[in-house]
Amino acid sequence: MLSRLPTLFVSDLHLSARRPETANLFLRFLAGPARTAQALYILGDLFDAWAGDDDRADPFNAGIGAALADLADAGTQIFFMAGNRDFLIGNLFGVPSRLTLIADPTVVDIAGTPTLLMHGDTLCTDDADYQAVRALVRDPAWQREFLALPLAERKVKIEEFRERSETAKSGKPYALMDTNADAVADAFRRHGVTRMIHGHTHRQARHDHVVDGRACERWVLGDWHATGNALAVDANGCHLLTIDE
Ligand code: MN
Repeated sequence: MLSRLPTLFVSDLHLSARRPETANLFLRFLAGPARTAQALYILGDLFDAWAGDDDRADPFNAGIGAALADLADAGTQIFFMAGNRDFLIGNLFGVPSRLTLIADPTVVDIAGTPTLLMHGDTLCTDDADYQAVRALVRDPAWQREFLALPLAERKVKIEEFRERSETAKSGKPYALMDTNADAVADAFRRHGVTRMIHGHTHRQARHDHVVDGRACERWVLGDWHATGNALAVDANGCHLLTIDE
């Protein structure tokens, strides 16, 4: 028996103490609309930066963690997939926040439809520089070495990295940083699905694709600023919600 309650998807909130209005919008979302969902999937970049789970006691991070746990206590299951900003989130933050960590990519049956979930950055294969950095920082040996540094030093390094990445992005053509059509088709093919949901590019849209003669749909989640967005999925299909109060 399928639940009639929708499943909600969000990504790219980029929560940071520097942008309290977005954090407050997300807290209201967790206390309100998210409670009508059977499950909430956060598909990466929940936080704008994550230096390691030993930063979970930071008041801002702890506040978000507590609000997530409250949502889970109210009956909405929460799944978290890491993005390129918060891939160092682990179970020391995840367990008390009641997050079930899921791999990128993951295929889940959502309201009767096998659905491929990704953060989305692995689809951006045209950006070779980005993919090289990604391969480095996702390497377990690199992560062990990085996490062995003092927290304060990690925060400084992340801030430097963030500034370099913003500068690099401003010099790159718009198309270079979007998903690559062959990578998208390969993902549909490899996972044998006709529905995909991802974020990362901040280019909220529904795209229709034909892969090997099969009609496929790809939903791209947008990022959160003064307003937010979520994709609601139930047995009738998918629709985008604007979160603005
Ligand atoms: Mn991202």
